[in-house]
Amino acid sequence: MARIADLIAKGRTFSFEFFPPKTDSAQLSLGRAIGELESLGPSFVSVTYGAGGSTRQRTHAVVSWMRKETTLTPMAHLTCQGHVRSEIRDILNAYADDGVQNILALGGDVPTDGEPAPSDYTYASELLDDVSGDGRFSVGVAAHPEVHPRSTDRASDRRFLAAKLSRADFAITQFFFEVEVYVRMMNELADLGVNKPVLPGIMPVTNKKQIVRMAEMSGAAMPQWLIDRLDKVDDPEDVRRVGVEAATELCRDLLDAGAPGLHFYTMNRSTATREIHANLGLSSAC
Ligand code: FAD
Repeated sequence: MARIADLIAKGRTFSFEFFPPKTDSAQLSLGRAIGELESLGPSFVSVTYGAGGSTRQRTHAVVSWMRKETTLTPMAHLTCQGHVRSEIRDILNAYADDGVQNILALGGDVPTDGEPAPSDYTYASELLDDVSGDGRFSVGVAAHPEVHPRSTDRASDRRFLAAKLSRADFAITQFFFEVEVYVRMMNELADLGVNKPVLPGIMPVTNKKQIVRMAEMSGAAMPQWLIDRLDKVDDPEDVRRVGVEAATELCRDLLDAGAPGLHFYTMNRSTATREIHANLGLSSAC
């Protein structure tokens, strides 16, 4: 089992993100995608966590299964909104007992339906303090290159990110479509004296409606050139091809700009990620 801080220190990483399945058929798709992507030898993989603890058991089950039954190095996402400290302690103990050494410490979003659960936390930085203070984990945090949608202004968002990152081992970004967005954020962090590794999150476009909705929710701007390229195609296979081409170009630009690795949002499917991986000629350390 490896700590992600050590993997990044050794060289460029490439990694894949999955979400825990809700149904038996989703479980099968995830198993297939993991089987197909495991053979590429990713540096690590990560598994998302439902806001307010809604996937607590399922995230734990997938991460622990990966740890015990595959060759993969897993990282568990953990959000703090809607949790009290004793629950976080139990979750961390369960991961440590299963030999899991990597946690992505996140704020999460307060669920909008029903009564909010009691919470000891407001921001990811408070969870980060608990997880890094625990001492058993390599800890990452989230970065939002185009600024988090709830932020009041860019400067304060960058200050909060710099403060988080100075105490974490690394960050992974929300997805975005142009290298300049990443380079600008890295320069702003350097101006604040923070030079920790930030892995860019890559979301290949595979479905036009879905990417527009996800970009709106996450605050990622769809550039006009990408909209124009997607407007020219309708067949789902052509949309996927354009998405893979655009993501490949972005990955090349990011590696040229010195990104310490690439983190792919797989949506529990393997085809687009495998094609980009092949286009880039990546090996275990890219
Ligand atoms: P925070 O760092 O707490 O930031 C949230 C907002 O608060 C920002 O606007 C920030 O500028 C501001 N802020 C931070 N500190 C302070 C402070 N001290 N005072 C005032 N304002 C402050 N969500 C899930 O539910 N499950 C997942 O598995 C998941 N995985 C993710 C993985 C990645 C790589 C990324 C980028 C996001 C992920 N998210 C996930 C989404 C994330 O939980 C949301 O974007 C959430 O709204 C913010 O999380 P954060 O960790 O950036 O929070």
